[in-house]
Amino acid sequence: MNGTAIKTTCSYCSVGCNVEVTNLGEGRFRVVPDKEYPVNQGRVCPKGYHMLTAFASDDRGTTPLLRTADGGMEAVPWSRAFDVFASKFKGIIDNYGRDAAAFISTGQLPTEEMAMLGAVAKFGMGFYHGDGNTRQCMATTAVAYKQSFGFDAPPFTYEDFEVSDYMVFVGANPVITHPVIWQRVQQNSRNPKIVVVDPRFSETARAPETTEHIALAPKSDLHFFYSVLKVLIENDWIDRGFIERSVEGFDEMKAHLDGLKLDELLKAAGLEEAVVRGMAEDIHRAEAASFYWTMGVNQGHQAVRIAQSIINIALVTGNIGRPGTGPNSITGQANAMGSRLFSNTTALYGGYAYTEEADRKKMAEILNIPVDRIPDKNSLPYNMIIDKVNAGEIKGLWVIATNPIHSWINKKEFFAAREKLDFLVVQDLYHSTETAQYADLFLPAAASGEKSGVFINSERRIAAVRKVMDPPGEAKSDFDIFKGIAKAWGCDNLLKEWSSPEEVFKILQRTSRGRPCDITGITGYRMLQERKGVQWPYPEGCRDTALHRRLFKDGKFYTPGGKAKLLFEDFAPLPEQLDAEFDTVLLTGRGSVFQFHTLTRTGKVPFLRDKSPAENYVEISSEDAGKLGIADGSMVKVSSRRASVKVKALVGDGVKPGQVYMPMHYMETNYLPPSAFDPYSKEPGYKYAAVKLEPA
Ligand code: SF4
Repeated sequence: MNGTAIKTTCSYCSVGCNVEVTNLGEGRFRVVPDKEYPVNQGRVCPKGYHMLTAFASDDRGTTPLLRTADGGMEAVPWSRAFDVFASKFKGIIDNYGRDAAAFISTGQLPTEEMAMLGAVAKFGMGFYHGDGNTRQCMATTAVAYKQSFGFDAPPFTYEDFEVSDYMVFVGANPVITHPVIWQRVQQNSRNPKIVVVDPRFSETARAPETTEHIALAPKSDLHFFYSVLKVLIENDWIDRGFIERSVEGFDEMKAHLDGLKLDELLKAAGLEEAVVRGMAEDIHRAEAASFYWTMGVNQGHQAVRIAQSIINIALVTGNIGRPGTGPNSITGQANAMGSRLFSNTTALYGGYAYTEEADRKKMAEILNIPVDRIPDKNSLPYNMIIDKVNAGEIKGLWVIATNPIHSWINKKEFFAAREKLDFLVVQDLYHSTETAQYADLFLPAAASGEKSGVFINSERRIAAVRKVMDPPGEAKSDFDIFKGIAKAWGCDNLLKEWSSPEEVFKILQRTSRGRPCDITGITGYRMLQERKGVQWPYPEGCRDTALHRRLFKDGKFYTPGGKAKLLFEDFAPLPEQLDAEFDTVLLTGRGSVFQFHTLTRTGKVPFLRDKSPAENYVEISSEDAGKLGIADGSMVKVSSRRASVKVKALVGDGVKPGQVYMPMHYMETNYLPPSAFDPYSKEPGYKYAAVKLEPA
């Protein structure tokens, strides 16, 4: 492969930038952003430039490792690793039943590998339970869209960042989390008004392009957006024609809002009436208003209804299906969207339901497998898998390309769970992750540059991921690991057709036929490269060659009646209250553009590591720091009702008095939040905890 330039997709975030990689020999690669690609148009962020560097790290797994009687790890051949895997999980299922085994997967694998895992574990091995780390970031949006639109369907295309004249970013900080998207916003020639709704004075709130920062009280988003809806409706700043044709539930929502008092909503949100009236008036005046959210919305105790309050504003004002509009979720991980459609975890491929007999029959026909191999009940969500481990009911856990000991909320619960497990398998690039160190069996996997498949980005674009180098030592692609496990289990006959990623892509196309995500018109991987990715839907016979395609242009949605639903609810109490002792709200989020999640990869790249803070910190307002006698750079003890951690103080104007902020990238942070979850999406509420601060 030396000297050949290969176009592929960045494997960090969901923006889905394309790069051209040239192998210069001796382990050196040149990575150049693709100028022609409609997503990044010749740009990447620092992580993208260094996307391959982390794969050359010394702690890459190069051979399977098995826990020994004295607690060490010994290298074993793949044949032994597969046999141990199969015999241990078979023993667990024979002794305790199918409910006693589970897997936790990821939004990082190519779609075909996720699909293969879902087939091997659920149809082949008989697992009922398997969820993804996408539960931690995108479950809220998936559920919100499904309930409102009838399918998990982000309506927008990135061109909307350039043609909208009023843009609202809610709980989103794209300047550091999705930098290439922010560059698209900077390209907008309509001089848009840009509003950032965030308790924190984030990098995006302070960007020169941002015209207004609405610093609402933490987790008061529902109060705020209901107040905006009230003002829109009271002033008749709504699109009655669109509501009549395309929306249901308006009268019911209006009645609910009529029962709420504007002054009480404003008090809860900590905002002046003029702020709410200003936003409502701006939406009314805009030709094309658009709304974007990320984890500040998704990770909360009432997150689905918050996402839907934003969706409701777009629907009642007719801001959907036109250029520059939409209630648009920006995804987190590179292939979270692939996981949402084709991982076979919370739903069957293509959004079919495990619990519907007709859907199971249809899937069995499409896949040519006996229908009784398809589980007739849903998987437990991630949080309940951990609960069941702690209750002693799940005995075996298989963790693939994720690091839950670092990332799970209220992490003492995951540590406790580890002690209860009979068998923990970790399949990852690195044997050094916090979770891999606790594994009974470690399976070394190839990285995204070492294998092929497709990713689906935030705007529904299916893009090629291509192999640019070989994996180290005996590491295998996750696809080949799943095949090896199927053979050792004795279920490989069932999945004969699943012979390669490209064959699996064809199978997934079949599962999508007639579904909103129909991709039967894609003729193969080659078309994805030639067409610079293809946004779904792209059904057989589709002749639409536009580079940017948005959904709902015709005002028809995927619900049985074709109308979008306005969904709303009473306010739920906060997961925990402040009191005289725990008197401060802890907010969490991304630390810098140079860091990604648990630093498993970015922490290994010298350029990115050198630009990142070396240790964890807590942002404190100058006012609180003065009161508590905490100096900038000194050590602080941050305590919640669950744990205490010591980190460095960063005193400044990033947070208001009574609030502090910690980045999620360091081990300490997730000891602090409570085990609180949205009732519909079961996504953890990382963004709110009651804490106290003391000089350490
Ligand atoms: Fe990769 Fe996201 Fe950066 Fe693009 S913005 S280069 S996809 S990390």
